[in-house]
Amino acid sequence: MTEVSTAEKDVVRPSELVVLKSVNKHFGALHVLQDIDLTIARGEVVVVIGPSGSGKSTLCRTINRLETIDSGTIAIDGSPLPQEGRALARLRADVGMVFQSFNLFAHKTVLENVMLGQLKVRKADRRAAEEKARSLLDRVGVGTQADKYPAQLSGGQQQRVAIARALAMDPKVMLFDEPTSALDPEMINEVLEVMQQLARDGMTMIVVTHEMGFARSAANRVVFMADGRIVEEAAPDRFFSNPRSDRAKDFLSKIL
Ligand code: ADP
Ligand code: MG
Repeated sequence: MTEVSTAEKDVVRPSELVVLKSVNKHFGALHVLQDIDLTIARGEVVVVIGPSGSGKSTLCRTINRLETIDSGTIAIDGSPLPQEGRALARLRADVGMVFQSFNLFAHKTVLENVMLGQLKVRKADRRAAEEKARSLLDRVGVGTQADKYPAQLSGGQQQRVAIARALAMDPKVMLFDEPTSALDPEMINEVLEVMQQLARDGMTMIVVTHEMGFARSAANRVVFMADGRIVEEAAPDRFFSNPRSDRAKDFLSKIL
């Protein structure tokens, strides 16, 4: 049988998962995002790099709708980001976010941190939420820390809990905004390894990072931003060996 049935056709998903078109944003007089066009395919890992202040965090925050935009459109899996309300909460839950500062709830245990969103947003039952939380904590290598409080964990462990917490929502895409920048050097790799594994498992990821080793080994594409614009984008090999724009050449000469 070669013909695809209607039912099968329905589960064929378009490959474009995150689509930004002509996105503009200002903070007062500052034009922080300028005509951003960016399309991320399902399963793609995109690393965003660029000088401090170029708009990388703001870009992440608009995709999660933590920031509004002034013009343009952002769609996740074919649905435009709504302005507010329940539809927004649902779409936002499709976008997992991991920040530089781990942002765990200090007065809740590790296990509770990973269960909370499942109970509140996904309305999972307690037993299912706990089972899933434990399995995710195992997956990121902190299963034995489940009953501790965040402050009792190292920074690297806390960041892995934050990743597990985001994954517990079954996000369609994961955003990482400098997830290792606040970590002591010896803890950076344990977090990058979890991210590498996630990438190999097929997660769609947008990663703002200065870890060029990660970009080279895990990214399908590097997006270079400067002054609120996407100046250049390319496969990592090409970008690092042969950056085309002067801004990118200048940036790489400073960090490599
Ligand atoms: P990056 O993450 O690339 O360092 P950001 O997106 O954090 O850049 O910031 C881009 C620019 O926008 C910076 O000049 C920053 O000072 C400014 N900015 C960021 N957030 C705000 C805000 N809430 N209000 C005003 N200006 C902001
Ligand atoms: Mg930033």
